[in-house]
Amino acid sequence: MLDHEMDWLMWASIVGASMLVGVAVLWIVAGYYHVRYYVRRGHEPETWKCQPKRFLRPDQQRQAAILSTINLSIGGFVSGNLVYAYLQGWELPKLYTEVADYGWLYTLGSTALLFVLMDGLAYYTHRAMHLKPLFKRIHRYHHRYIATSPFVVVAMHPLELLSLQAATFLPLFVMPFHVASVIVVLGYVLVFNIIDHSGVRLVSRIPWQGPSMYHDDHHVYFHVNFGQHLMFWDRIHGTLRREGRRYGVDNFGGKGKPGAGGSEDFVKYP
Ligand SMILES: [Zn+2]
Ligand SMILES: [Zn+2]
Repeated sequence: MLDHEMDWLMWASIVGASMLVGVAVLWIVAGYYHVRYYVRRGHEPETWKCQPKRFLRPDQQRQAAILSTINLSIGGFVSGNLVYAYLQGWELPKLYTEVADYGWLYTLGSTALLFVLMDGLAYYTHRAMHLKPLFKRIHRYHHRYIATSPFVVVAMHPLELLSLQAATFLPLFVMPFHVASVIVVLGYVLVFNIIDHSGVRLVSRIPWQGPSMYHDDHHVYFHVNFGQHLMFWDRIHGTLRREGRRYGVDNFGGKGKPGAGGSEDFVKYP
């Protein structure tokens, strides 16, 4: 129950900090990949770039950076308000801070489960965004960037950002999670989403993490590879890019059509 007076100073500090953290992570991680590859190795894209012949125009780069900054501020605003409400006694997000309350086994197991649930919910939300009406009204803004760049990460319609955030936060209202688990998983999701949009050919040492080419191909072929980190969801639904299938912006459904178009360069994901 909300039995406290509104503490505006506390509210502003928490909401402000929450907005700042997301935007700071974006600029530090995306800035790092931008300088390391696009600035320092911009003259040799064939050695590192997923799409060596395709680059965003400078105005698209700026637009993506501004949009991602605005969207992470909106996301931070929502999260900050949830944190404030929680600290004021709102008990709906089932969070805990003492490992002893549930034990280590539960805390570690629920952290892994949180990651899998958030990843699965992101897959289904993204897949829903590829239904024709939602794609044409909302999701197409993210798909304007056929070549990706680290700043494209949440360059999308704000309604899409809010839908993704709602889906990702859903598990927090269903079962108890340690506060640190939530921070770690959300941090992972943001950082790896930036890496997946970097446009740089990268393969993670983390065994369950898909290569950056997996989401980069989503931007090239549109209705395929809807997953975020785990390729599992695409595999079980048959929506992982396959050889001998033709994909494209007008080819909805996630499974492509028989035909070789786009398959000449087919490389199986590691
Ligand atoms: Zn998409
Ligand atoms: Zn994307």
